Amino acid sequence: MEKVLSEYDSTRCQGLVKNNPCMNVAQPGSNYCALCDPEHQPKKVLKNYLLGKAQDQARLSELSTNEEIKSLREEIALTRMLIQKRLDVVKTDTDLIMACSSINALLLTVDRLVNSTHKIEQSLGELLERDTVVRIANYLVQCLIKHLENVPNVNEIIDAVLVDFNKASTKPLLPPPT
Ligand SMILES: [Zn+2]
Repeated sequence: MEKVLSEYDSTRCQGLVKNNPCMNVAQPGSNYCALCDPEHQPKKVLKNYLLGKAQDQARLSELSTNEEIKSLREEIALTRMLIQKRLDVVKTDTDLIMACSSINALLLTVDRLVNSTHKIEQSLGELLERDTVVRIANYLVQCLIKHLENVPNVNEIIDAVLVDFNKASTKPLLPPPT
């Protein structure tokens, strides 16, 4: 790959290599060389780079733990981080104009991912996760104990409720017990 001689060469790639300016010549019509171009980098490399940063990990940990949509949410978060990183290098109006098409493409990607996530969430019928179900069951038992403490056979009642609850929680859309 063709190299620039100076860091201040205007044809230099705007990418970073191990936190130093990339010294490759940018591709025609791009701010990046083929190796740094965010739109052409393999997703895995990009993902590892972004995940390597503590702040990014913290943001990812806020994501839903639902496995079905976790990867999509990660893609959304990563794409948003990428937009932020692209905006971070914008210093002038000219930079902003140069950045517009790639930012626009990234925004469209976020939009597409958000729509896919919504569709999957809808098709899942917003199923509760197993540990959420367990937490609800625990809460339910505490409420029953509190409100039924003077009722005879309270333990048997709670056991029976939990049996029904367990059956319901393993079968989505089961009608309430009659
Ligand atoms: Zn480069």
